[in-house]
Amino acid sequence: MRHVAIIGAGIAGPVTALALRKAGIDATVYEAYPTTADGIGGTLALAPNGMAALEILGAADAVRAVSRPSSRTVLTIAGRKRMELPGLSGVGPLSVVRRADLYRVLHDEAVRQGIEIEYGKRLVEVDHTTAVFEDGGRAEFDVLVGADGIHSTVRRLIDPNAPGPKWTGMLGLEGVSSYEVPEDPETMVFAFGKRGYYLYWPERDGGSTWGVNLPYHRPLSLTEAREVSTEEWMRILRRTYGEDVPGGDLIRHTSVESVHVTGALHIMPSVPRWHRDRMVLVGDAAHAPSNSSGQGASLSIESAIQLARCLRDIDDVPQAFAAYERLRRTRVEKVAARASKINHSKTPGPVARTLMPLLMPLLMKTVMNPERTTGPELRYRIPWDARVDVPA
Ligand SMILES: Cc1cc2nc3c(=O)[nH]c(=O)nc-3n(C[C@H](O)[C@H](O)[C@H](O)COP(=O)(O)OP(=O)(O)OC[C@H]3O[C@@H](n4cnc5c(N)ncnc54)[C@H](O)[C@@H]3O)c2cc1C
Repeated sequence: MRHVAIIGAGIAGPVTALALRKAGIDATVYEAYPTTADGIGGTLALAPNGMAALEILGAADAVRAVSRPSSRTVLTIAGRKRMELPGLSGVGPLSVVRRADLYRVLHDEAVRQGIEIEYGKRLVEVDHTTAVFEDGGRAEFDVLVGADGIHSTVRRLIDPNAPGPKWTGMLGLEGVSSYEVPEDPETMVFAFGKRGYYLYWPERDGGSTWGVNLPYHRPLSLTEAREVSTEEWMRILRRTYGEDVPGGDLIRHTSVESVHVTGALHIMPSVPRWHRDRMVLVGDAAHAPSNSSGQGASLSIESAIQLARCLRDIDDVPQAFAAYERLRRTRVEKVAARASKINHSKTPGPVARTLMPLLMPLLMKTVMNPERTTGPELRYRIPWDARVDVPA
């Protein structure tokens, strides 16, 4: 393996480059946007399995330093029913991190290790083993990795009939409120309100941060959503969450300047082809299990590392890709299936009608036997030092 071209410098791109570097393989990352993504995106949660994967790359401590731990998860329904979801013994907390901070730590680590990241390089076409960029530039590759997110170009180049992302019917917004929620510092509350789903957590220095999955009539692009004035968003938020406890207070005590849209919430249906010839997908391009899973970034990091492991151990590229898919597909599709059940219960409508039949059986299973429901997701560890076998 001489050279890997990685398309996309989001989360999966830099992680793939770092993992390949550890495997002794050189890579260059090509990012469509002209600059780094500092300050872009909202908050995401890295699960213990995602942090364990970052541990392999020596990046976990730096990510921990910009995260806050969340060791308690509480679920509330219509502000009345309250249920603490049981944790798993010996499993660490969720690491709640701004996407921009996670991005910056991974990007800085890649640069520190001498990995080249080229900006303003939007991939438009592949000509045999040459990547062609919008600015006319070209780059030779032995392997091309599509880490180009949920609207992936590489996915379409691998399979022109590949499905695209599906909109969940909701938009993501976040804000900071001066309202103090009566919760312990490490608690995150998932709240099914009267007209929509939201979540919140207390901040260390006072006040609370909230996020909403706002039911909306059409999937606005980030640019369109940002054209709507913050005052208008505040009106919509008050209308949707105003009668919820504590949703109403959280919104009423939110400063308008702190509100920002994180975008339309999408989910990726199962992607039939993850690879073709010398091209392969990682991260959201291959599997975006919806924000309800709490696993999007963690699964992306895992896939990036497993791909590097397969390319390290198997010389034949198609066989390495087949081994990678065999290691990953079942796992990511199980997570997506669980998240999709939760998603359905977040869509608008009277709580009792939509939520109870869909969510309750899943919740009861989780409460009764967390080891069986979330154990396999959170306890997953990548055996980096073990050799990957060629698939039979
Ligand atoms: C702007 C943004 C904000 C986000 N905010 C949140 C959030 O608030 N909460 C949350 O849970 N998740 C968020 N996510 C998603 C989360 O970061 C991902 O689910 C996850 O980390 C998977 O990362 P990824 O690297 O596969 O994809 P992404 O993080 O989407 O990265 C893909 C990268 O590929 C680049 N790219 C796309 N097409 C091309 C091309 N043709 N050529 C070259 N480069 C290309 C993109 O510009 C992007 O930098 C956000 C993603 C983005 C892009």
